[in-house]
Amino acid sequence: MHHKSIRQLSQHLQQKDISSVELTQHFLQRIQQHNPQLNCFVTVTEQQALAQAKAADAAIAAGTASALTGIPMSHKDIFCTHGVKTSCGSKMLDNFIAPYDAHVVAKMNHQAGMVMLGKTNMDEFAMGSSSETSYYGVVKNPWDLETVPGGSSGGSASAVAARLTPMATGTDTGGSIRQPAAFCGLTGLKPTYGVVSRFGMVAFASSLDQGGPMTRSAEDAALMLNAMAGFDPRDSTCLNREVEDYTVNLNQSLAGLKIGLPKQYFNADLDSGMAQKLEAATNLLISLGASVHEVDLANTHLSVPVYYVVAPAECSSNLSRFDGVRYGYRCDKPVDLTDLYKRSRGEGFGAEVKRRIMMGTYALSAGYYDAYYLKAQQLRQLISDDFKQAFTQVDVILSPTAPSTAFKMGEKTHDPVTMYLSDIYTIAVNLAGLPALALPAGFINQMPVGMQLIGNYFSESRLLNIAHRYQQQTDWHVQMPAGFA
Ligand code: GLN
Repeated sequence: MHHKSIRQLSQHLQQKDISSVELTQHFLQRIQQHNPQLNCFVTVTEQQALAQAKAADAAIAAGTASALTGIPMSHKDIFCTHGVKTSCGSKMLDNFIAPYDAHVVAKMNHQAGMVMLGKTNMDEFAMGSSSETSYYGVVKNPWDLETVPGGSSGGSASAVAARLTPMATGTDTGGSIRQPAAFCGLTGLKPTYGVVSRFGMVAFASSLDQGGPMTRSAEDAALMLNAMAGFDPRDSTCLNREVEDYTVNLNQSLAGLKIGLPKQYFNADLDSGMAQKLEAATNLLISLGASVHEVDLANTHLSVPVYYVVAPAECSSNLSRFDGVRYGYRCDKPVDLTDLYKRSRGEGFGAEVKRRIMMGTYALSAGYYDAYYLKAQQLRQLISDDFKQAFTQVDVILSPTAPSTAFKMGEKTHDPVTMYLSDIYTIAVNLAGLPALALPAGFINQMPVGMQLIGNYFSESRLLNIAHRYQQQTDWHVQMPAGFA
């Protein structure tokens, strides 16, 4: 059952070949068997899952079910789940039981009737590229247990890749859906900023954060995005657009598709093995009717520096709410208010989170604001303008998702800048608010290689279409890590 696509699972449920309770038990059993090795779940919500599955079976029997009713799924532990611990991978929120559901959770688990299996592990407050900064320990990549699954949505990626859950939510502030998708051989979509509500998603950098699907295939991602996207008045940046069905264009022809290859990405710095895989993928798309053009993203080299001013600035403000008073961790026996703040935050946050808060506070402080934050916002505009210009020439931009395949655990933990550079291909997309999709494009030394497709605003459906046509011709996305059959 864990080899089936979401559409297949849906058909089995509708035809009553299997019940949602049986399906849920199957995945819970797989989690029990493999999670000790992978550490991809922080919380498994077994009782709740079985109750949701029972309700789903009743809806299916009554004929009131939707296509996704009864299908198991998992949430990154950044999404608030009513009555269930929502830790964000931090000691700060280790004792936090969310009093409400995130919009995405309400839509998927209540409206669509999907079954939540549990909450997945992640880098603390979504800051990281390797899922090594979690309070709950490092997450492992099922393709090679000595390597990282990527981050920050590494728990979701590891769980989907090992087939412990048919799909999982992720969030992407600078690459956290796409880079772990690449490292684990998955399809991951970061939607246009504002397509998915951020209500109830613990905020990291509000102008960049966006939730999205992490699945095995583009078709699965389209089905999942259908359940996630949609207007929510509780998020002031959520867009009030007509609801789309992301599956309708999946089979559209690629004839006439114009693909842009940024000259700044395809240069001597690109790993030669990676370059070969991307060339093969591009050739396949050409054989399906696409043409290839060079595009110029002249300011793309500024993305990482700009991001590491904007994101920490926003996080320093967002994380000020964790003060030992309102939520989460409180230090033992504070002597006065200052001591309470200092020790609660000092003891509750991990090193990477503190580093970001310090950088952000510095960049926003009087006298430095113009030099750093304002300057970064100006450069952010130039980065966006490059894409705007490129999309007058091409429909989609193709690039690597990450500079390499999954790296070894511990390899970059002592050098934050090297870690930050693992997002050089993904970060510009968040700064511009564009949609982008990562999908598997082969293997190097048995480790998955990720290709990224970046589209213009609201082109999710086109990106999914290109990925789906590619996946009909390739089998990278159906291959499984040995040991998790
Ligand atoms: N790796 C980047 C960071 O550490 C992006 C994280 C994310 O997208 N949440 O900030």
